[in-house]
Order: sequence, then C-alpha cells, then structure tokens
Amino acid sequence: MSYLVDDKGFYGEYGGAYVPEILYATVEHLKNEYLEAIESEAFQKEYMSLLRDYVGRPSPLYLARRMSAKYGCRLYLKREDLNHTGAHKINNTIGQILLAKRMGKKRIIAETGAGQHGVATATVCALMDMPCVVYQGALDVQRQHTNVERMKMLGAEIRPVTSGNGTLKDATNEAIRDWCCHPADTFYIIGSTVGPHPYPDMVARLQSIISKEIKEQLAEKTGRDYPDYLMACVGGGSNAAGTIYHYVDDDRVKIVLAEAGGKGADSGHTAATIHAGSLGILHGARTLVMQTSDGQIVEAESISAGLDYPGIGPMHANLAAKRRATVFSINDDEAVRAAYELTRLEGIIPALESAHALAALPKMQFKTDDVVVLTVSGRGDKDVETYLANKEMAGEYGDF
Ligand SMILES: *Cc1c(COP(=O)(O)O)cnc(C)c1O
Repeated sequence: MSYLVDDKGFYGEYGGAYVPEILYATVEHLKNEYLEAIESEAFQKEYMSLLRDYVGRPSPLYLARRMSAKYGCRLYLKREDLNHTGAHKINNTIGQILLAKRMGKKRIIAETGAGQHGVATATVCALMDMPCVVYQGALDVQRQHTNVERMKMLGAEIRPVTSGNGTLKDATNEAIRDWCCHPADTFYIIGSTVGPHPYPDMVARLQSIISKEIKEQLAEKTGRDYPDYLMACVGGGSNAAGTIYHYVDDDRVKIVLAEAGGKGADSGHTAATIHAGSLGILHGARTLVMQTSDGQIVEAESISAGLDYPGIGPMHANLAAKRRATVFSINDDEAVRAAYELTRLEGIIPALESAHALAALPKMQFKTDDVVVLTVSGRGDKDVETYLANKEMAGEYGDF
C-alpha cells in the first residue's frame, strides 16, 4: 500500500476529479499529459535550470543550533524562505507554466487568497511572457494591498470577487468559472495540493524537489539520508507534500503536520480542517471540508492568510485518517510566539504559516540524537506588521 496517489486519482477514499461536464475533457487531457510531460528530459532540463538559476535552489538545510539545544534534538531547517519571491510556491508555478507552454495554452489564470500564489504566478507569467488573470476575493484585495500592487507591477490583471465573503474560496469558484468558459486556451495554475486529480499529485511532484534535496543534504551532513521526523505546516498542503514526498512510504520517518487552529479547533473560529472538518466535495476533490450540517462551506479563520482555507489536500486527509501523520492544531498565539522565538534564537523571521510548524516543537518529545527536519515554507517580511500588532502573544520575547 502506498500513500501516494493511486491510478484512479485517489488517496484512500479522498481525491478524485469531481468537475462540471464542460471541464471533463480538459481535465482528462491534463491527466493524460502531465506525467509524461513532467518526467520528460526536455521538461526536467528547463525546470531544473530555472530552479537553480532563477529560484536559487537548492535551498539550504541549516542546523539550527540554539533551537536544537532548546528542544533536545538535532533540528534542521529546510530554508524555502530563501527562494525567489520568498516561499516554496514558486517551485510549483514554474513547473505548471512550463506544462502550460508545452500544452500550447495561451493564457494563465490563478486564484489567490493572501496573494502569495498570485505573486508567484504573476512572476512566472512575466518570465514566460504570458497573459495572467488572478482572481482574488474583494475583501482580500483590500487586506493584501502590497501583494496586489506586486501582481499589477508584474503585469497581471486582478479580478476582485465580490460573491460570498470575498475570500479565497470565492476566488477559487470564480477561477473555475473562467476555466469553464475558456477550457481550450486557458491553463489554470492551482496553488496547492488541492483541486481535481491530477492537480494534487501534480503539485506534490513539482514540490517534491524539497524532499529530494533533503535526502541528498542529510546524507552529506549526517551520513544517513533520512530523518527521524519531518515537520511542516498545512494550508492546502503543498509545502508539506514536497517535504514528505520521497519519505511518505518509509515508516522509519515520522510525519508531523501543523494546521491553523485560529482561536482554537473547537472555537468556531478556525482553519483546522483535519480537526474540525467532515467528508465533502470542495473545488473538485472529495476531501475533508469545514461545512455546516447542510453542506454550506464555513469560512476559515486564522491569523495566517496562507493557511486560511476551508479544505485540505486529499493526500493529507488520508495521511491523517490512516494515522500516518500526527496532526497538531496550532492556535494564533502559539504561532506568533514561535515566530518570535525563531527570530530571537536563530535570527530568522519566518512566515506566519511556517511559524505554525515551529509551534509544534514544544508539543513533541524528542531523543537528543533524533534528526528533525522542519520546513520553513516562507519568510516573514510580509507578516512584520501582524507580528508587531500581536506582540502580546509573543510571551517572553514580546518585551521590547
Ligand atoms: C501559501 C503558503 C503556505 C500554505 O500553503 P501549502 O500549500 O499548505 O504549503 C505555507 N507557507 C507559506 C509561506 C505560504 O505562502
């Protein structure tokens, strides 16, 4: 049994492709093309050279000495925060735009919440000279002013979405609607391991460069190519999928995921879908969803805009159901404290999303020689205002 996708596009009972009939042929076409394309020599050559020279890969694997001493283990940080555009998302958008070009598509669309995926998509569209339309909830357009300006500067057209609450799920609905109207010439670049098959698998493969590098770097640094623990945060699940990809069927490696608890997984103000969700269909996949008893989507709430999604990748729903992964729900205050801690102990200001993974460290019990690899999915420059506004959550580190 494998925890990777099966030949029907499922992870256990999760996954599949539940799309409107008008998209059926488009999704089938992508499903039939993506594996051969991604594995082809020409694709790999261009993809790997862009990852090296444009993104700045390999990202370092850094032994965090002061954090290791604090948590009684050997803690290595996988530094996705050092990538061009500041997070792991660019690994995926570069891969998908190369695929779009190969499939002869003329136009790119994307959804975005906080704007991180929108910026990563607008970036590769500028690079490849392709027109780019980004759907973003109207509320998010207001809240994420800087990223909106970045996307515009990169040449993307932003379409604010006023339906629903004007946030990520509404933007996604609108992007799917656009795709339905232009299935032949448009490629939809999805930002995480969500959506209909083959997207979750395709995005996981494009992010799997993270665990491929971890393997090589660990072998070099520790003499052993696997860790005892892998830790990552989950919104839709792409940085976590990339971190665990080459280890997911290796039971020597324990997997720890951190989702956004918001004000608490049971508080009604949460984005902890694995804890608070139930089986449903969202954006083309059968997965855990936060919903009311009659199936209306419940808005996700978290201090971290990048984890604010009412669904979860089908791969991760299955890992949790089969107990392959331990999943913590991390509340806003725990994440903020963890971000301050990394800042003070290692001189690295992490993204709020990544801080959720860091906040799982105090909940663990390690042996001193355990090798722990934790992915820092992004940098915290975009979150500095939030950190300062929530200094009271920083505990012993907030006194300045
Ligand atoms: C978008 C984002 C996430 C969450 O997305 P995943 O698909 O779950 O990885 C995490 N960290 C950062 C820095 C992000 O920008």
